[in-house]
Amino acid sequence: MSAFPATRLRRLRRTDALRSLVRETRLDLDDFVQPLFVGPSSVPNAELPGMSRYSVEDVVAEAAELAALGVKALLLFGIPEEKDDEGSGAWEEDGIVQRALRALRAEQPALVLVTDVCLCEYTSHGHCGVLREGEVQNDETLDLLARTAVSHVEAGADAVAPSDMMDGRVGAIREALPEAPIVAYAAKYASAFYGPFRDVAESAPSEGDRRGYQMDPANVREALRECELDLAEGADVLMVKPALPYLDVLRAVRERFECPVAAYNVSGEYAMVKAAAARGHLDERAAALESLTAIKRAGADLVFSYWTKDLAQWI
Ligand SMILES: [Zn+2]
Repeated sequence: MSAFPATRLRRLRRTDALRSLVRETRLDLDDFVQPLFVGPSSVPNAELPGMSRYSVEDVVAEAAELAALGVKALLLFGIPEEKDDEGSGAWEEDGIVQRALRALRAEQPALVLVTDVCLCEYTSHGHCGVLREGEVQNDETLDLLARTAVSHVEAGADAVAPSDMMDGRVGAIREALPEAPIVAYAAKYASAFYGPFRDVAESAPSEGDRRGYQMDPANVREALRECELDLAEGADVLMVKPALPYLDVLRAVRERFECPVAAYNVSGEYAMVKAAAARGHLDERAAALESLTAIKRAGADLVFSYWTKDLAQWI
């Protein structure tokens, strides 16, 4: 490259139109998934509207609104009326997510319906698997996850997304579901950025934490091993979660693997910007668009974000 003064990179930054011509990364609504929480009743969330909770009836109305705005895909989380030790609400035929799936499938045949597959919203102790003497039991949990995934697909899910981080869960689900796409939360970190989600989903562990199964935030090579295993077990999409504090992980996964890569722009990332904007420190739209662009630039093909509905109106 010739040096200054022959080379002046500012030449292409002079106008909006010039910048747009040479822009490397663009946001396309087709790549975004809106997470939705379904529970026994609707609970609007004034501070974090993207994290409101909907009854089955209201989630159908919200999905219709999202579809009309051009949103193509939803990720469903369920909050059951009652929890138990095992988390049996996760796989019940008339569980909350299963009922929502049937209602949504009937009304919105074209929407892609992805379901979160985990037990933590359904267990009374809030852990993602079977708990014995304070320890989450890996292998005993696998059957329950596979049962949950099968019940989701039978109720109309297009894809399942296991988020528990048990070893071998992708293989267990793949064996039970040879056809359905699996979006594996492959590199899911034990992150401090899940706080608002746990409030909405009522899924905070009552004792202990999730560091015994979710990944250590300090590790990136381990993330690649997790991805490799999930692919070998039959995953179709690899996800990195959270997104913004882990853009290097996203990039590393993108460079190593050919499959679609997803990023989860988590509740804490959303809430930080919302809180700063509410105090006048940041412009929400600009900060959100910059965040989502950074996630795409780092290598995500698809992004799960609470800003998806806003994005539909912004771009
Ligand atoms: Zn969980």
